[in-house]
Amino acid sequence: MKLDAKIPNGPLSEKWTKHQFELKLINPANKRKYDIIVVGTGLAGASAAATLAELGYNIKAFCFQDSARRAHSVAAQGGINAAKNYQNDGDSVYRLFYDTLKGGDFRAREADVYRLAELSNNIIDQCVAQGVPFAREYGGLLDNHSFGGAQVSRTFYAKGQTGQQLLIGAYSALSRQIANGKVKMYPRTEMLDLVTIDGKARGIVVRNLVTGKIESHSAHAVLLCTGGYGNIYFLSTNCMGANVSATWQAHKKGAFFANPSFVQIHPTCLPLHERHQSKLTLMSESLRNDGRVWVPKKMGDKRHPHEIPEAERDYFLERKYPAFGNLVPRDVASRNAKQVCDEGRGVGVTGLAVYLDFKEAIERRGEEAIRTKYGNLFQIYEKITNENAYHEPMKIYPAVHYTMGGLWVDYNLMTTIPGLYSLGEANFSEHGANRLGASALMQTLAEGYFVVPRTIAAYLASMPYDKVPTDHPAFKEAEQDVKKLINRILALKGDKTVDEYHKELGLILWNYCGMSRNAAGLKQAKEEIKKLQGAFWENLKMVGTNDELNQTLEKAIRVADFLEMSQLMVDDALHRNESCGCHFREEYQTEEGEAQRDDENFAYVAAWEYKGKGAVLHKENLVFDELKPTQRSYK
Ligand SMILES: Cc1cc2nc3c(=O)[nH]c(=O)nc-3n(C[C@H](O)[C@H](O)[C@H](O)COP(=O)(O)OP(=O)(O)OC[C@H]3O[C@@H](n4cnc5c(N)ncnc54)[C@H](O)[C@@H]3O)c2cc1C
Repeated sequence: MKLDAKIPNGPLSEKWTKHQFELKLINPANKRKYDIIVVGTGLAGASAAATLAELGYNIKAFCFQDSARRAHSVAAQGGINAAKNYQNDGDSVYRLFYDTLKGGDFRAREADVYRLAELSNNIIDQCVAQGVPFAREYGGLLDNHSFGGAQVSRTFYAKGQTGQQLLIGAYSALSRQIANGKVKMYPRTEMLDLVTIDGKARGIVVRNLVTGKIESHSAHAVLLCTGGYGNIYFLSTNCMGANVSATWQAHKKGAFFANPSFVQIHPTCLPLHERHQSKLTLMSESLRNDGRVWVPKKMGDKRHPHEIPEAERDYFLERKYPAFGNLVPRDVASRNAKQVCDEGRGVGVTGLAVYLDFKEAIERRGEEAIRTKYGNLFQIYEKITNENAYHEPMKIYPAVHYTMGGLWVDYNLMTTIPGLYSLGEANFSEHGANRLGASALMQTLAEGYFVVPRTIAAYLASMPYDKVPTDHPAFKEAEQDVKKLINRILALKGDKTVDEYHKELGLILWNYCGMSRNAAGLKQAKEEIKKLQGAFWENLKMVGTNDELNQTLEKAIRVADFLEMSQLMVDDALHRNESCGCHFREEYQTEEGEAQRDDENFAYVAAWEYKGKGAVLHKENLVFDELKPTQRSYK
């Protein structure tokens, strides 16, 4: 199969406008003849479901939480980018496009990134109209702060709760459509399989997480907005339920998985403090606007930070990257933090931490100004660490945060299965090998509010109205497969818990497929994962039954998928013999220790096709008509 990204012709800045005009329309009376399934109600899913329902389609929306309103998107703290140029500091759609493509180390599709930048301003207007309480300046204008990888201030925020406030906006729109009867909402329901008929996506099989009931739902198209798979590492900043199952099952049914090894490790998180911890906490990147990152110059310096004089501190990001300083992109900041800790200059009990210091900002702007801007983040920090970051520096260390990899989609956001779309963190889309801060929210809402509502019409317009009944053999077969899987898992009566397997998998990935990778380590990881997978299917300790709320069963199904998916991650990391963005292969670095890309051989999206044992690689060559890829520099 040849990959066709369906990028429209014409100049970059006109592609989306022209494409929208050329896409087929469906008249309002006919829209209500089509059913669409939306799996996931985070920012991507909720915005898409609400907008499609408002257009007249019949929507069924699913999420595993007890309310759509509790999707992982609520965790987003820092903000959302848009090229409004309210600060008059030289921002523009073109600059946002440039920063995002460069930030992703030229491993994203130019046309998609441009469209994202173009739509960014519409998102802010839409959200303001919904009443999202963005921070405002004294004069009433929307306020902005700076995020990594940009020299302008374009990040709109709502204190440290941007995701939550945006989701309340999308959820209100969704709730209105639920009340109108246009959206039927299925909370606490997990999709376990995708159903294809004649090669097209026609429905899903789900499990009711409260009763265990397995049932099917059919539709004319299916949207997977199921978030990222960062939880594969066990320890991450993601919500505990985040998983890969929906996209992985779709992959097994024919949807290609793109760049699975591109995982973002965020520099500003709370360091791990003990072995039994199940979660890591993010400290928003916005803190790097005012916080300065440093470690002692001397190895093994155990003095209290207040006792270390200025001359004996190494503000290593400011020293190495004077142009961007503490606001270098995440991959660069994380790698540098790891490097100084590996040199033995890390701080805290474990030595795996660096300081994020607000002393200078507090002296310059006063404690109250810092409290107004970041108060709730300082409060989270104090609650977890029992330390007051107004008085002594925070300690931070990189943690798994976001997955740039995901289902391969074309310009219309359709996967390689006709009728199956993927939005938000679940697709591979616009961030290349490294996502810039505050760009994920922008992507989810651009795709949900503006892109898919337009592109899906062109697909549906070519479909007959007829509905497929859920007693169709394809549904019955998929239901049987799901039941077999559940019975197989429940029959395991070994002596190791699912969390123990998950933790072991996470550690293998962290050690060999984390912030830096090399061929020998990746090969070793593959062997270790295979062994672990064998042990899981022999020695897993299961409890309970299917016909009840059984979180052990939920986890076991997810971990079984993680064990399969992680092998593709490792293969992907192993095949890419270059360094780019987050993917730092130790064998490929510049003399200064920065990522060394190989554009001649690897300027492509790696899209993997499932073939049972061993996936097949398809390459979508990346063509850069507008920006010539250059060695990324933040100096
Ligand atoms: C702590 C934290 C802070 C962040 N801060 C920012 C920020 O400031 N700015 C920014 O741009 N980005 C930020 N991000 C990233 C951003 O929040 C996410 O990328 C984004 O919210 C993902 O939205 P989504 O709609 O794609 O998926 P999610 O919000 O993850 O929603 C996934 C949905 O899919 C459902 N689901 C999943 N699997 C299934 C299944 N099998 N069956 C049924 N339902 C399923 C879930 O129930 C949920 O409704 C942050 C991320 C984290 C972890």
